[in-house]
Order: sequence, then structure tokens, then C-alpha cells
Amino acid sequence: MLIKTLLNRCYPVKGFIYGKVILNNTRITVKVKERKGSQGLCSQCKKAAPTYDHLKERCFRFIPLWGYLVMLTYRPRRVSCPQHGVTVEHILWANGKSPICTPFKIFLSHWAKYLSWQEVARQFRVSWKNVFESVEHVVEYGLKHRNLDNINAIGIDEIQYLKGHKYLTLVYQIDSACKRLLFVGRSRSAKTLLRFFIGFGKERSKQLKAICSDLWKPYLKVVKRKAPEAIHILDRFHVMKYLNDAVDETRRAETAQLKRDGYEPILEKSRWCLLKNKRNQKTSQLAKLRELVQYNLKTVRCYLLKEAFQHFWTYKTRYGAERFLRTWTTRAMRSRLPEIKKVAKRLRKHQELLLNYFSVKERLSNSVVEGFNLKAKLTMRRSFGFRTFKSIEVALYHTLGKLPEPPITHRFY
Ligand SMILES: [Zn+2]
Repeated sequence: MLIKTLLNRCYPVKGFIYGKVILNNTRITVKVKERKGSQGLCSQCKKAAPTYDHLKERCFRFIPLWGYLVMLTYRPRRVSCPQHGVTVEHILWANGKSPICTPFKIFLSHWAKYLSWQEVARQFRVSWKNVFESVEHVVEYGLKHRNLDNINAIGIDEIQYLKGHKYLTLVYQIDSACKRLLFVGRSRSAKTLLRFFIGFGKERSKQLKAICSDLWKPYLKVVKRKAPEAIHILDRFHVMKYLNDAVDETRRAETAQLKRDGYEPILEKSRWCLLKNKRNQKTSQLAKLRELVQYNLKTVRCYLLKEAFQHFWTYKTRYGAERFLRTWTTRAMRSRLPEIKKVAKRLRKHQELLLNYFSVKERLSNSVVEGFNLKAKLTMRRSFGFRTFKSIEVALYHTLGKLPEPPITHRFY
């Protein structure tokens, strides 16, 4: 009796009533019946139509209660629609063939924001696929109902999702007022990014004031074509990534060289003290760094050049930054370090994009793209189950998209 009252309170469904409640060892089963004289809805046009016959009973999982599984059972009607003939009725509490009630889907997807999908499946005794479908349902609703107006700045990033050069293109909104994931595309080709701009629309693209990205050529090309009025900025996260990669390459080559020449392996275990930001380093890493700096190593010179570049971002004016860039690249070009020379050449070539950072009035926060990059990687790890593009896409929109959620009469969590 009480269960019925609860259900009526939390989840009333128009045209249906909750009937008999059966409790056995581990589950509560609630019979759902159509209200007398009510008509089912045609699953195609969603219009009421007279009943034709009843099908076999189907079970639908509802949100578990006090450790009991909760099951709704119902015998769906077939209705004879004047337009579509005899069809199975549209079921209001679950879509299509899904055995999971919509409120349970919203409930599962809520938890999937905090736990791994596997953990959600285990805790609520459903399958991984059920969790995936639940999140997908919520994401589909959100994508359909989100508002894409008034976006001023976007960031474009690429991220590896499978070994062997399998990349995703991610586009974020990076306005100070709202930061969220806007788009997930398979691969990092020009076509992928074009798809974003096509979906985004001409009007909105015209409104874009700033676009951050790395120096990936297909992206540069597409941005130029699709948003020529926006200021294109090479963002800090990616510049520092190029510099870090140069340090790492140099270190690898030098370690091998030292080994070949029979020297002490002083560069061993130095990777993170060279790459990490100084602020985030452990004491042991700082000690290692102090030790390394005493040697005249290529790696150390490379590292020092990288660190020196940090100063670039502190300039207030474009003029000062430009002067610094000239000095720095000259130093780098004379360093006889091939890896860093390569970066210096690239930065010189794309100097405009780099200096554009100082032309945007509202200084875009530096860490936005980097923050999203980290969160995206974390999310991909969390949704881990089947590493398909679809599941990763859904997981990323779910956690980073700030999507509106389907309306529901009662919050179950
Ligand atoms: Zn119909």
C-alpha cells in the first residue's frame, strides 16, 4: 500500500495506475495498469487510438528501494491507429525496447557523473550497457535542448583516445561566463572541425570573437575559412606542450648518448622534474633538478630555455611580448639544440597567432583548455568499458557539456 502511495507521489503517469505490489525475497514488483477507458498512444504519431489487443507482460526496472530491486510490470497494448494501422503503444515511462524506466535512467546517469560506469552498474545491479544507455538518453535530451547562443570564445583541442594515432577533436566554449564542452568529433581532420562549424551555424560563427587552438594545420585552415573575423590565438597550454616535448626528446636522445659513451646515467628518473611545472614538484624532484643544473647538459640547457619562455605570458602589452619573443627565439636558434630550434622556428612562423593572445581585451584564462584536456582524459578513463567512439563521446558530453537535464517530477538522488 505504502509503495503505491510513494509511486503515485514521486512518479505519477497520466492514464495509468499502480496496482498490486508483490514483495518477495529481493524484489518489489508493481503491476501497472491502464486507467479504465483510457486509450493508448500510437508509437508513431503519439495520438490516442483504440485498443486492438494486449501483448505479453513486460518488465521495467525502476529505482531500487532499501536494497530491493523494484520492477514495474505491464502488458502493453496494441492500438489501431487510423493512420498507422496496428502498432504497439508508446510507453510513457521507458523508450522503445529499453527495460529501464526513464527516472531510473536519470538516476543512473546522475551517479555516472561521480563513479565509473562499471561501479554504477555494480552498485545498482544493472549491466554496463544499461548505464551506457541511460547516460546516452540524458545526453541526447541535453544536446537537443541546449542553448548555443551568445558564445564569444572557443578552444579547439585534440586528444588521443586510442593507441595508434586515434584522435578526437574537442571544441569548448571558454567564455568567462560559461565554460563547457560543445563538440566531440572523431579524428582530427579538417572535415571533423568543419562538421562542428556546420552544426554551429554561420550566424553564430560570425559572432565568435576569439578562437584558441594549437598549430595543427587542418585546424588553422578551417578556422580561417569559417570564422575569419575571430582572433585566432595559439594557446599557452599548447605552446608549453611543444616546449615540453622538445625537452623530453632532447633528454631521451642525450640519455642514450651518455649510455653509449659510458658516462654515469645522471639523467635517469629525471623526466618529471624536467616537465612538471616548478610549483607542483615534490622535494625529491627539486633536489634532482638542482643536481642536474650543475652539469652542462643539452637537456638542462633545453630545460632552461623552456622555463625562460614562461616569462612571455606575463607581459601586459603586445609590444613587450613581441620584443621578448624576438630575443628568446634568437637565443633558441643559437642553442645548437635541434629540438628547441624546431619549436622556435614554428613559433616565429606563427608569431601572429602567438601575439594575438595580447590583443584580446578580455584576457582568456590560460588554464581553461588545459583544465578541459585533463578532465577529458579522466572522463575517458572513467567510462572505460568498451573503448568505442560512441561511449567516449557520450561520456564526454555528459561530464563536460553542462547539458540541461530531462525534467522529472521528483529528484531521486
Ligand atoms: Zn499513428
